[in-house]
Amino acid sequence: MAFIEINGLSKHYPSRAGVVAALDGIDLSIDEGTFLGVMGPSGSGKSTFLSLIGGLCHPTAGTIRVDGIDIFRLPAEQLADFRREYLGFVFQSFNLVPYLTALENVMLPLTVKKLANAEKRERAYQVLERVGLKARAGHLPGELSGGEQERVAIARALVNRPPLILADEPTGSLDTATAASIMDLFAELNGEGQTIVMVTHNPETRGNFHRTLLLRDGRVAGESLATAA
Ligand code: ADP
Ligand code: ADP
Repeated sequence: MAFIEINGLSKHYPSRAGVVAALDGIDLSIDEGTFLGVMGPSGSGKSTFLSLIGGLCHPTAGTIRVDGIDIFRLPAEQLADFRREYLGFVFQSFNLVPYLTALENVMLPLTVKKLANAEKRERAYQVLERVGLKARAGHLPGELSGGEQERVAIARALVNRPPLILADEPTGSLDTATAASIMDLFAELNGEGQTIVMVTHNPETRGNFHRTLLLRDGRVAGESLATAA
């Protein structure tokens, strides 16, 4: 079985006109270590797809298995445990806490862990170093550039060592050069075995993906596999 198995996944929303099928019968297998890009026009279902894989909302029909776990059959508390153990989220708006330093932001996901505080700080430092930001550990988000804030957000997503990173337009608000360096970082992490599912509008980012899924009207309208460069 693939690392992620998606079967008959649909998400319908009620609307004045009847029902909107944000996702309409998606079947997909994603192997461990894949860098999957999800593209498509606005309204094609990309965010809905990512929210469902992240267990942030429930489908109208269908299943998602991650590492064999049928995630929508988990009771709420176990779903929260699953998310903590398996997932790191990186969003376009970095969601950093403005009054906490870079280091403290990265330590947030460790709050619930039964680790000594020194161990938490050490781990957070190590991840900040991994993303090239150790020298900025004591800075507040407002003292960092957009690209640096994005790196803090990536470090925070990585600190629990989750097997799966979900990224929603992580380069959307960055200039071209900074976006390229962030994509390089994701590609490096993927090269180390990290599975990544990334929603993006930016065609320039495609080069990094192993597979690119094209969504249209909630369905898979096409898929391209990367050719070896
Ligand atoms: P994308 O991320 O590709 O822009 P979305 O997943 O956000 O697409 O949306 C897919 C479709 O579902 C759109 O038609 C959108 O209007 C609709 N939709 C998304 N979320 C909701 C919601 N909470 N309530 C009603 N309709 C929604
Ligand atoms: P759960 O809902 O499983 O208890 P949390 O809400 O504690 O999970 O954290 C979910 C993710 O949100 C964490 O991985 C962390 O990166 C991020 N996070 C936690 N606390 C904050 C916060 N105060 N502000 C922004 N992001 C946070």
